[in-house]
Amino acid sequence: SIPLTFCAAIGRASRLGILFKGSAFVDALNRVRMVAFDKTGTLTEGDFEVSEVRAWPPFSRKDILFVAASLEAVSPHPIARSIVRAWSGSRELERVEDGKVVAGKGVCGMLKGRFVMVGKASWLQEAGVVLQADDKEDGSVVVELAVDGVYAGRIKLADRMRGAAPAVVDFLRGAGCELAVLTGDTVVAGQYVARRLRIPTFHTNLLPDAKVSCLELFQRRLGGKGYVAFVGDGMNDAPVLTRADIGIAMGGLGSDVAMEAADVVLMANDLSKLPIAFGLAQHARRLVR
Ligand code: ADP
Ligand code: MG
Repeated sequence: SIPLTFCAAIGRASRLGILFKGSAFVDALNRVRMVAFDKTGTLTEGDFEVSEVRAWPPFSRKDILFVAASLEAVSPHPIARSIVRAWSGSRELERVEDGKVVAGKGVCGMLKGRFVMVGKASWLQEAGVVLQADDKEDGSVVVELAVDGVYAGRIKLADRMRGAAPAVVDFLRGAGCELAVLTGDTVVAGQYVARRLRIPTFHTNLLPDAKVSCLELFQRRLGGKGYVAFVGDGMNDAPVLTRADIGIAMGGLGSDVAMEAADVVLMANDLSKLPIAFGLAQHARRLVR
């Protein structure tokens, strides 16, 4: 049976903006030896500014932003929301037919009778699109655009590290946890964030299922000598949140799927609640002894 102090800790946690789905998860935090983080929207704000738009003839930069925003209007992804916000043109966005969101890759659909793809480079390449090389890769998120299978343009978006990320990562390192970054983003973007947080282990270009495989690898490596936690913002992260020994989701982002898949939710999208959750768990354990 679960000691009462863990139940009491749930109440205290909820007043601090941390939702535990059950008292077993409080003490589970004390067993965590490794914490794997999603990057976009978890270690970073996930609130992008469009920093560059490039267009190849016959398209103008305005066309590129217009087409991308029209497609991205069907996606709840933070990249999509930022592109829609960046469209400040006078025209209303165009209605997309058969719009399809492909998890971890992008969005495609029919726009005025033409087939448009908006998403990551490797996805467009799989579809046979020949891209123009990117001359300066600088860690920003890159979204590529193709119209009827022909390369059309590129949008770059700059994300910011969450203000709380360095302190949260240092806390966990100090508590003896191994750390990792698992991201669907490119090597350049993933490495940039991992380096700045001094996290040596990072895996990039991961689709949702590949994040699960990485997590299982970490679990095998620990060989049952401790738990692996995953912290994510929920965009495409439901499978790995479920598979982790303890899944922790950023709350308040309107991503109900993630909230359901997680064992612990940090309300109000506040990463700085993570060390507090670990602190509460430690405190509760001490009271039991
Ligand atoms: P992360 O694992 O870092 O949170 P995601 O798995 O959510 O990233 O997305 C991985 C990559 O897929 C993004 O960096 C982006 O290149 C591409 N992508 C995902 N969704 C979209 C979208 N709606 N529009 C454009 N690109 C997208
Ligand atoms: Mg994410």
